[in-house]
This record gives sequence, C-alpha cells and structure tokens, in this order.
Amino acid sequence: MYPRLVVDLKKIKHNTEIIVNKYRDKNISIMGVTKVFCAIQEVVDAMIDGGIDFIADSRIQNLKKVKTNLPKVLLRCPMLSEVEEVVKYADIVLISELVTIKRINTEASKLNKNIKLILMFDMGDLREGLWFENSLDFIDDIKTLSNVTIYGIGTNLTCYGGIMPNEENLGKLVVIKDAIEEKGVKLDIVSGGNSSSLYLDELSGINNLRIGEAIALGRETAYGNIIDSAYEDAFYLEAEVVEVANKPSYPVGQIGMDAFGNVPTFIDKGIIPRAILAIGKQDVDETGIYPEKGQILGASSDHLIMEGEFKLGDIVKFNLSYGALLRLATSEYVTKEIEND
Ligand SMILES: *Cc1c(COP(=O)(O)O)cnc(C)c1O
Repeated sequence: MYPRLVVDLKKIKHNTEIIVNKYRDKNISIMGVTKVFCAIQEVVDAMIDGGIDFIADSRIQNLKKVKTNLPKVLLRCPMLSEVEEVVKYADIVLISELVTIKRINTEASKLNKNIKLILMFDMGDLREGLWFENSLDFIDDIKTLSNVTIYGIGTNLTCYGGIMPNEENLGKLVVIKDAIEEKGVKLDIVSGGNSSSLYLDELSGINNLRIGEAIALGRETAYGNIIDSAYEDAFYLEAEVVEVANKPSYPVGQIGMDAFGNVPTFIDKGIIPRAILAIGKQDVDETGIYPEKGQILGASSDHLIMEGEFKLGDIVKFNLSYGALLRLATSEYVTKEIEND
C-alpha cells in the first residue's frame, strides 16, 4: 500500500555508529532519540546495534512499547497527569518542576522504585528548563526525597529560540554542574544538547548528547549540513500517481480561498505536464519533501500536485525533512516499510 514510509535499517545503524564512534573516545554517551519515527521497534533495535547507551523519547506511550535492556529516558517534562505512567515506564526523566519531582517521588515510593532525574536548565533558548541565573536552593529540597536521585543536568538548545550551542552557554552549564556538586550531589550526566551540538569540536565538561535527527536523517542541525559519510535517505517516502494530465498552470475563474483558507497565488507558465499523487497534508508537510524528479506545486488534505513528466501508477520517491518524517511516521494512513538488506 502507498503512500509508504520506507526505512533502511542498515543505514540507521551506520548513521548511529558514526555518532557513537565519534564520541566514544571522548567519554560522551549517546541517548538515541526515537520520537521522530514513533519508536518503531526495528529502528530502535538498529540504533541499539549501532551502539547507543540510552533510549530517549518525548512520549511515554513510545517508551512503554519499546522493548530494550537499555535505560529509558523521558525527554519531555512529565505532565502531572501522567506521573503514574512515567514512574512505571521510564527510568530517567528530564525535568524542571519541583512539584512534579515531588509527585514522581510519591508515585515511585508506592512502586518501591527510584527514578533518576536530569534537571533541565534553560541556557537562553527559552524552551524548557530552570533559568540558568536562578538560585540552586531547590537542590536541597530534592536531596530529601527518598525515591528520586539527581542523576545529572542538561540543556536543550536550537529548539524554540534558535540559540546555538557554544562554549559560552555549554560552559555555563558546566559551572552549574560544579555548583550542584558543591552541595554534595554527584552528577553522572551533563547532557549538552541535541543534533545541533554535533558541529562543536570541543565539548569540555559535557559527557552526554541526545541525538535523533542526525541518526534518522544524517544531518547536524546547527547549520543543517549532512554529516560526513552519513546517509540522508535512511528514511524516504514513496507515493503513487493517480492522475496525469497537461493543464494550465494558472487556474481558470475567480480566485478565492483554497481548502485551507489561504488565497493562493500562481505564475502563468502556460500549459504544463502535471501529476496528482495520493498523499496530502493529512500525511505530510509537503514543504518538507524533496522529489527525485519533478517539482511540487502544492497540496490539499489528500492530494499532492506536481509538475513534471509522470505516468499513471508511477511510484515517486522523496527525501524528507525532520517535520515531514515526524508527520509521516505519525499518520496511520502511511504504511511503514522496514528494509534490512
Ligand atoms: C527531540 C529532543 C532531542 C533530540 O533532538 P534532535 O535534534 O532530533 O537530535 C533532544 N533532547 C530533547 C529534550 C528533545 O526533545
């Protein structure tokens, strides 16, 4: 069935090995981030074969279903309403709220478990985290809790504010580490970010990275460059042509709103060869898919309109952006095809 999202497990393993091997000598552990492909078990296994040290995902549903002996890390600060599930299915949580930490402690004590905390610090990107300039007094509160352990600290950059990781902001994170250790808490993990930290040659004081996109799509995300000898097509999309026709490039009649309430604009190039493919906005962000041939003109919920020479029934291949992969993996209308040869 088409459309289908195809993943090549050999390429996932290869991309993972590139990252893991680059950092092994520097004693930097790697959390393999599985959220962009909804933690498909076979892909998780390929990452494990590639040498990752932890499985990390933002959704507790994904951590719940994944089978692994590696520690499971919840990346998104837990909702109060999911704490029970979190305590059951995560070993480590990234977290920034004392109230939630206390709730986790209570639930963990009921199950006689200990949950490891990675305290998130906001170094300026303005997504999650304790503000880096604020007092660290709350550490003393956490120390009194019996069923949680402060395992480490971390930061997330290049997500909301587009702030680049560098020596300055990661250096400040290491200063916070030292200040916490002065309070008598030994930190195992200083987690210095995501695929946008890979461009840095020096990561002094950092001993962990959380990597998703660089493994799935072979790209660092500070500049969007392909990583040397990594595959950018470990995941790709295939969609099928359901109509082929020569039609005008400029619509005929009075132009109002399109299916999504926008007033579209067009360039009149005369009659052009076109194709309709059976995939749409419900399955993918069409601005983040890159066809092997032809050119995308637009999309509605279920239809992708392309310019180019196609035949009815053609299967067209596309490379993917992060956002496109995320939505394709999530759409139940997209078949997931695992390749392993
Ligand atoms: C998604 C996520 C990551 C992984 O980001 P990539 O850019 O895919 O490497 C790391 N940390 C946190 C907290 C995340 O939410």
